[in-house]
Amino acid sequence: MKNQNKSVYPADTLGMDSDEMRRLGYQMVDMVVDRLQAKHELPALKCQDRQILEQQLGGSVPELPMDPQASLKLLAEVALSNQQNGDHPRYFARVAGPSSYAAVLGEWMGTGFNAVAISWGGGSGPTTIELIVLNWLCQLLGLPEGSEGVLLSGGSMANTTAFSVARSQRGMGRVYFTDQAHSSLPRSLKELGFGEDYLRLIPSDDSLKMSVDALRAAIEEDIASDYHPMMVIATAGTTNTGTVDPLNAIADLCEKYNLWFHVDGAYGAPAAITKQGKTYLDGITRADSLVLDPHKWFFQPYDVGCLLVRHPGALQACFDMNPEYLKDVQAQGEDVDMRNRSLELTRRARGLKLWMSLRTYGAAKFRHGIEQGIRLAEYAEYYLRQHPTCWEVVSPAQIGIVCFALRNVGEGEHERRAKRITDSGFACVSSTQLKHRSVLRLCILNPLTTEWDIRETLDRLAAEDLNTEYSD
Ligand SMILES: *Cc1c(COP(=O)(O)O)cnc(C)c1O
Repeated sequence: MKNQNKSVYPADTLGMDSDEMRRLGYQMVDMVVDRLQAKHELPALKCQDRQILEQQLGGSVPELPMDPQASLKLLAEVALSNQQNGDHPRYFARVAGPSSYAAVLGEWMGTGFNAVAISWGGGSGPTTIELIVLNWLCQLLGLPEGSEGVLLSGGSMANTTAFSVARSQRGMGRVYFTDQAHSSLPRSLKELGFGEDYLRLIPSDDSLKMSVDALRAAIEEDIASDYHPMMVIATAGTTNTGTVDPLNAIADLCEKYNLWFHVDGAYGAPAAITKQGKTYLDGITRADSLVLDPHKWFFQPYDVGCLLVRHPGALQACFDMNPEYLKDVQAQGEDVDMRNRSLELTRRARGLKLWMSLRTYGAAKFRHGIEQGIRLAEYAEYYLRQHPTCWEVVSPAQIGIVCFALRNVGEGEHERRAKRITDSGFACVSSTQLKHRSVLRLCILNPLTTEWDIRETLDRLAAEDLNTEYSD
C-alpha cells in the first residue's frame, strides 16, 4: 500500500501528503537525535519567563494553516529547550528521568499507530504487551507468581490506585506512614475520603526510617480504642534521602495484625533488580501492593508509573465496570480489560516503551545502569568525606541519593548555591530539609554520569564565587 495514493489522506481531512509526512517525520527524528548527541552541552535545566515564552509560542488561534516545519522548529528551540533535561548527566535535582532511546521508539510507535490499551476487543495487542511487561517487572523484582499490575501516569496515580484497592479489600480504616512519605500520599488519601482521623503519622527515627516500635504501639493503641487499623505505607527509597523503611519488620507487623502492606518504591524499587539494591530493599517482595515509576529509574520517557498487586483479581474486583456499550469488546476467559484495573478507561499503551527497551537492551543493561547510580552516589559521599573542612555528610549514599551540608554557612546559603549552579546551566542540584535542617542533595540515576561530573559539581557548589559561566 506504501506510496500508492497520496490523496487518500489529504490535508483537508486533517491528514497530510505522504511525502510530507515522511519529510517532517525524518526531520523530527533528526532533531531528537541531535539533542541526544549534544545532551552534555545543554543546560541541565532552563527556565524562561511565561511572558517571553507566550510571545514566541502563542498568538491568536491559528485559523489558517501554518508551516509545520517552522512549528516543529519552534517546539525544539523554544518550548522544549525551556525545561529540565532530566536525562542530562548532571541533572541531580529531585528525581531524574534518564530515559533511553529504545523506549522512545516504543512510545512513538504507540502514538503513530494510535494504540489504546483499554479493553481486550479494543486493543488485544497493546494489552498483551502491557501484561507481558508487567509480568517481566514482577519477575525481575521477584514478586510472587500470580501478581498483577497496571501501568499508570506515574507514582502519584499508582499509589492512589493502590489505596483504592487496599480499601476495597480491607474496608476503611487507619493508615500509618511517616513524615518522610511522599507528600502526594496524604493528598491522595484525603481525596479518597480518608479524613484526618484516618491518618496516623508515625515518627521516623534518627536515620529517617519508620520507627517499628512506634508503629507497633500506634497499632495496638488503635485496636484498644476500637479504631480499625487498615494499611501501613512504607517507603522504599524516600524522595529526600533514599532511605528505605524496615520492610521486613513492617511486613511482620502487617501479617500479625492483618493490615495491608503498601510499599511506595516510586523511585527506589527498580534497585531491587540489582544485587546490592536487593539487600537495601529486603522485604519488598512481601508487599500487598508495590509502586514503582519506570519514568524515574527504569529508563523510560514520561510518563509511566506502575502498580503491582500480589492478590490475583484484586485490581479487577475494585474497578470492574462492564456497561452495555462496552459488551462487544469485553474480555472473555483469560483475556484482560485493562480499563478494569484502574480509574482510567481510554488509556495509552504505556507498555510498548518498556517492551521495546527491555528487548533492545536486555535486563542486564538495566541492572548495570542502576548499579552505576548506586555506586556513583557512594562515590559522591566518598568525595565529600575527603573534604571534611568544607562538607558534612548529613545522610549517607542510599540507592542513588546523598545529602550533605556546607560547614559554617548562614541560612539560605544551600538554596543560593543550588540556584547558582542550576542557573549556570552546568548542573541541576536541589536542596531539601531533613528534620528542619537545610541540606543539599544529589540524586544520581543517570548511567551517563561520570565521577568527573560529580567532582566538578561538588567543587562548584563548594566555591564561594562562581564567576566562570558554564560554556563548553
Ligand atoms: C516521585 C515519587 C512519587 C510521585 O511520583 P510521580 O510519578 O511524580 O507521580 C511518589 N513517591 C515517591 C517515593 C516518589 O519518589
